[in-house]
Amino acid sequence: MGLTIAVDGPAASGKGTISRAIAARFGLAHLDTGLLYRAVGRRMLDGEEPLVAARALRAEDLDAEDLRGPDVAEAASKVAALGEVRAALVDFQRAFAARAGGAVLDGRDIGTVICPDAPVKLFVTASAEVRAERRHKELLARGHDTRLEEVLADIRARDTRDAGRADAPMRAAEDAVLIDTSGMGIDEAVARAIAEVEARRPEPDDA
Ligand code: C5P
Repeated sequence: MGLTIAVDGPAASGKGTISRAIAARFGLAHLDTGLLYRAVGRRMLDGEEPLVAARALRAEDLDAEDLRGPDVAEAASKVAALGEVRAALVDFQRAFAARAGGAVLDGRDIGTVICPDAPVKLFVTASAEVRAERRHKELLARGHDTRLEEVLADIRARDTRDAGRADAPMRAAEDAVLIDTSGMGIDEAVARAIAEVEARRPEPDDA
């Protein structure tokens, strides 16, 4: 079986950028699992039952254009607190993780629930203030007109909901490596993550 790498952490911690870079560096497929919850959240905003939407989700739904905005993020974190919705999305994620060529999955519960046996687990974090600044810049660049204080409040609310829910709360697995990117630029954070993977991945012979 190919190498599975679990990358978890809160919004705007840098886990998405790090995951894409690791996938490219080690030739692995990449799944941003937040998109599953965002796609379900999007359909809830359109009036659908979240559980019906989660059960009907198809891979193509993850390519929808409008999944990145703050309203969808908020809806995603609400549907993500529903145990039945989470359960409906497990098989898709595990099948992706078991790809022969190996995979990187990023999210909140990959190392703890989806792939507890992954040989490499990273938990990427940063202070709420730093994350809010990054997300604010990203949103402005994409044409969303928001204030920094609003973004910070949204990030805090989402952190609280994601870490406090009963089912699969966001937390670092016991064997995860913690990477705090608060004082790092993108290049430094990526280099650090690649070094951690290099140090931990099984030798190709015993993989
Ligand atoms: O990572 P992203 O910000 O796109 O995730 C959106 C929301 O989806 C998160 O706030 C979280 O509530 C939920 N999520 C989750 N478990 C995952 C990935 C995302 O609960 N593995």
